[in-house]
Amino acid sequence: MPTISKKICLLGDFGVGKTSLIRQFVDKQFSDEYLSTVGVKISRKLVSWSSKEPQNVQELQLLIWDIEGSNKFRAIAPTYFQGAKGAVIVGDVTREETLNHLLEHINSFLAINPQSYIIIALNKSDLIEAEYLEKIRKMYGFPKQEAVLNTYLTSAKCGINVDEIFQVLANYLI
Ligand code: GDP
Ligand code: MG
Repeated sequence: MPTISKKICLLGDFGVGKTSLIRQFVDKQFSDEYLSTVGVKISRKLVSWSSKEPQNVQELQLLIWDIEGSNKFRAIAPTYFQGAKGAVIVGDVTREETLNHLLEHINSFLAINPQSYIIIALNKSDLIEAEYLEKIRKMYGFPKQEAVLNTYLTSAKCGINVDEIFQVLANYLI
């Protein structure tokens, strides 16, 4: 049986950790250096998902689109988003302005793909004291946005909730 492929996009401001999240998910690696993305990079990763019967495990190929963080973003956004079934929209918990831009990213993605699913990743959670984290997560739940499945605190550095965000999204793409 041929593997089903689905396109997902990573969105978010410059430096929030989009490339790092993909790298941690696909290669299980992290680098403290800024991993500059030139143009668009597409990574592939097979994920398993099972319907109710355990013998029914199938594989889904995620085509994960990453884009360089620059002001060229606006000009190429529509082509970048085209055909995507889901998005991970990323903010950096240490930079509030990147969190304030999450809704803008949600809207620009949904303008091109109204029938899609979104996961919010509040990344770099390793840099913030645990007592503040849950409060931040609740502030960025976007309950009015039906497309938003859930908000996760992630760390591309420590691998926290990285597999989870991609797996949860994958489960909705079928
Ligand atoms: P992008 O522009 O959104 O693709 O961001 P990058 O993935 O290139 O990350 C920008 C910077 O943040 C790099 O120096 C990364 O090492 C760092 N970074 C990314 N994710 C994390 C994280 O979860 N924790 C910490 N401490 N640093 C991170
Ligand atoms: Mg990048």
